[in-house]
Amino acid sequence: MQRYFGQIITDQVLLGDDDIFHLTKVMRARVGDEIEVVSNEKVFLCKVSQLKPHIEIDVVKQIKENHELKNHVILIAALIKGEKMDFVLQKATELGVGEIVLLQTERTIVKIKPAEKDLKLERYRRILKEAAEQCKRTKIPMLYRVIDIKQLGDVDAQVKMIAYEEESGATESFNSIIRSIKDKQKVAIVVGPEGGFSEHEVDMAVAAGYKRVSLGKRILRAETASFYALCVISNHLERK
Ligand code: SAH
Repeated sequence: MQRYFGQIITDQVLLGDDDIFHLTKVMRARVGDEIEVVSNEKVFLCKVSQLKPHIEIDVVKQIKENHELKNHVILIAALIKGEKMDFVLQKATELGVGEIVLLQTERTIVKIKPAEKDLKLERYRRILKEAAEQCKRTKIPMLYRVIDIKQLGDVDAQVKMIAYEEESGATESFNSIIRSIKDKQKVAIVVGPEGGFSEHEVDMAVAAGYKRVSLGKRILRAETASFYALCVISNHLERK
């Protein structure tokens, strides 16, 4: 069943224009069709009650479900090129992150100029919304910050890791930090760009409280590293 993020105010179901277009033109909804609408992190079963002269959608009932991770996970991802960035955003959403922070580093090839930032973030947020709808989340990951390595200390998290490709190939430190995550703790994981991190950058992250972790013996592509790290974290958090 199709899910949309919208607003439900006193039983009035409000969807964005893009979603109305998708529902009526792409899904070719008919009166009586049911959809799920997420409003303020609550899920409602809704039904199309009218299409002309304009669409009306009624609330049928609230659906009790929770597909979110029990901890708030923040992916701090260095900007990478093109579709690889889209892949990271989509997979991070499917794997339950609560926030994505974009990171400019010494070696990031992609630079977001101030003039293009809003447009770029808007496009990235569309990817997050579509991925959250597809995987049946009740939250769309937040994405509003582009920071540089000096600002890592500003990220509010109690468990902080930086994936460093020059770290030993043993994943024990990664695993033991993850096993130590307590309820309600926020978890942040930093992943570098195609060109990796400089020693100096890693030193700054460590000074800001981030622990260096290895993701194994092989050098993963940036998009693989984010994906792998989040698979391990979400798998651990949902093991029971
Ligand atoms: N400079 C590397 C590429 C960096 S990979 C090269 O020689 O090709 C991009 C990012 O993925 C790294 O900065 C790091 O954050 C992460 N990463 C990749 N493999 C890793 C590993 N085995 N352990 C920890 N982090 C890794």
